[in-house]
Amino acid sequence: MEKTKEIINLCSKYILNTYTRTPVVFTKGKGIYIWDVEGKKYLDFFPGWAVSGIGHCHKRVVASVKNQLKDIIHVSNNYYSKQQILLAEKIANTSFGGKVFFANSGAEANEAAVKLARACGQYVGKHKVITMEKSFHGRTLAMIAATGQDKVKKGFEPLPEGFVHVPFGDIAALEKAMDDKTAAVMIEPIQGEGGINIADEAYIKKIRSLCDEREALLIFDEVQTGMGRTGKLFAYQHYGIEPDVMTLAKSLGGGFPIGAMVVNDKFSDVLKPGMHASTFGGSPIVCAAALGVFEAIEEDNLLDNANKMGEFLGKRLKKLKRKYSGVIKGIKQMALMAGLELNIEGSKIVEECFNKGLLINCTQKNILRIMPPLTVKKGEITRAIKILDEVLARYR
Ligand SMILES: *Cc1c(COP(=O)(O)O)cnc(C)c1O
Repeated sequence: MEKTKEIINLCSKYILNTYTRTPVVFTKGKGIYIWDVEGKKYLDFFPGWAVSGIGHCHKRVVASVKNQLKDIIHVSNNYYSKQQILLAEKIANTSFGGKVFFANSGAEANEAAVKLARACGQYVGKHKVITMEKSFHGRTLAMIAATGQDKVKKGFEPLPEGFVHVPFGDIAALEKAMDDKTAAVMIEPIQGEGGINIADEAYIKKIRSLCDEREALLIFDEVQTGMGRTGKLFAYQHYGIEPDVMTLAKSLGGGFPIGAMVVNDKFSDVLKPGMHASTFGGSPIVCAAALGVFEAIEEDNLLDNANKMGEFLGKRLKKLKRKYSGVIKGIKQMALMAGLELNIEGSKIVEECFNKGLLINCTQKNILRIMPPLTVKKGEITRAIKILDEVLARYR
């Protein structure tokens, strides 16, 4: 472990200590596998917090980026570049039409959405944005204000005003909170950081009609759920409605930093030149990467695979739950976005899986989060479940 120690020591000398890190240095990734600097191989069932959503270094992403590198890396947004337009066209045509603004991260895409909501509301005196308890929308000042978890806000007050939180899933609370100052409702259709909490269809439909009635924007934060994770390209497509605004990031760029705000035609002319901007947003290189991701999802039938493998994973998780009914309280899952709710704290389980070469995550202290790439195969799920089984056996 000499190499690992050396790098970690350097890290603590030069990198701000803002992350809780597992003591491992990763140097190589291919598909569902990732290797550390000592040469140990891991099965990655939580690839980059869903960033490497189609696996590490996907060949179509690599090819698309390599091809783009030959021409130009960056074009600033006071000029035109083709990749950005092709990607916006692809996103619009596979979602609800409209137009796209490109940012560099999830938080930035959400910032853009809140600015759009404020811009829409300004003439009628609306500025409030209602979000959900346990939500997660990013780490900028406005997004920690938007996020419905106190732990991200503590110590950073005063925060931007105008954000109100209501319990996720509680339509009465939302109805009560919506008033003539409400510019938008922002929701993750499935809360990721909040513990894989899945909104039901009636709830989302009711939110849609409340937003219509009271002329508030409906913003879906699909930063984690987007790009096929839930078995459809975008999670809103499970609900028989369309949001007015959708934000994407994480797996959109196949590992490259990109964020996007998609706005339907009704609101796509609200932001005018000079009202919002990003220096790096939508650069040819990240857009080429994202086009590679779309190509992979479409040409390799990855949605189909996500559904089939999601079903297989679900069966295996249910079997585990029956076997360890004292430890596993519940399963929350939509295709390849899965959470195992435990009766005990999950961090030790994650650590022991790690030691056995399986990467998963734990959120909200007791929800094991399992989100393999859309390319996952049966044998890999079987292998991951076997490791989980071995680890859980010690907690029975
Ligand atoms: C990760 C995440 C964000 C923040 O994205 P960053 O790229 O880290 O800014 C926002 N919303 C959701 C739902 C997320 O999962």
